[in-house]
Formats: sequence, C-alpha cells, structure tokens
Amino acid sequence: SDKEKVLLHRVIEEVSPLLWADANLRGQSVELKLNASIHELELNVREIKQLILNLGRNAMEAMGPKGVLTLETRNIQDKVELIVRDRGIGMSESQREKLFSPFFTTKREGTGLGLSLCLSIVERHNGKINVDSVEGEGTVFTISFPLVKEEY
Ligand code: ADP
Ligand code: MG
Repeated sequence: SDKEKVLLHRVIEEVSPLLWADANLRGQSVELKLNASIHELELNVREIKQLILNLGRNAMEAMGPKGVLTLETRNIQDKVELIVRDRGIGMSESQREKLFSPFFTTKREGTGLGLSLCLSIVERHNGKINVDSVEGEGTVFTISFPLVKEEY
C-alpha cells in the first residue's frame, strides 16, 4: 500500500506551516498540543495531510478573526488520537447528521466534499472519526488511529 510507519505528530508538524499561512490571512492562529508519541502508525502521509488540512480549514472557516485552531495528539491505550478543535459557530444536530454526506454544505461557495473525503481517509486507516459540537460554542473532531501491531 502507500502507507509508511510514521509518527503522527511529525506529520502534523510538517503540515502546520500551511495551516499557519491560512490562519495568518484570517487574523487567526494555530495552537499545537502535540503529545510526542513513541508509537509509529501506518499512515498514508499524503492522505493524512489532506485530512488535517480539511479539518483545519473547516475549523478556521467556522471562526472569526482572533479564532484559535487547536491540533492535539493523545496516546490512549491501543490508539493514537488526533483532536481538531475550534471555538467557532458550532452546528445543529440536523447539520451534524448530514456532515459526512457528499455535497452537504452550508457555505455559499462550499463543495461539501471535504468531510466525505475525510471520512474515507479515516476508514482506509481503520480509524474512527467522532464529532462533538455545540452551537455558538465550537466543534471538536476526534480521529483515532489504531497502533501498528507488533511483529514477532
Ligand atoms: P465545505 O467546507 O465545502 O462546506 P465540508 O464537507 O468540509 O464541506 O463540510 C460540510 C459542512 O459541515 C460545512 O459546510 C459546515 O456546515 C459543517 N462543518 C464542518 N466543519 C465544521 C466546523 N468545524 N464547525 C462548524 N461547521 C462545520
Ligand atoms: Mg470543508
């Protein structure tokens, strides 16, 4: 496959200058809370960068100037989590239900394809994607990736 063994926080570090560039144009900022994992994951790096960019850009589009996009990694038992957090407009329950459907967008010039692509990327990595959102408060996407099985 196109997957390689890499550290998730390294991939985030590589892609973060692109997010910073977008954030700067909006007067926003990016906060990284990277918990340096010793666990390598089997990732298609190109796809994971696309995932981070899509989630990060959605987060920025949900916030006004001075908004802070937070990217966090966490090590929990047999998985590594990527958390993408914003304090933006949030979404309603009916919006949340349609979130991953292709062409669902609430943006005037949106394609509605970003999150359906994100879901397929996460599924190709045997991961899970979860969303918590409160209207007017913000949104948290949590993606969990399984650890690479030890080979003996
Ligand atoms: P697009 O960004 O082109 O609209 P996406 O598939 O990336 O398409 O997102 C679909 C919809 O999900 C968005 O139009 C928006 O309504 C909602 N959404 C996604 N991320 C967020 C977020 N961080 N905060 C609020 N709404 C969001
Ligand atoms: Mg999008």
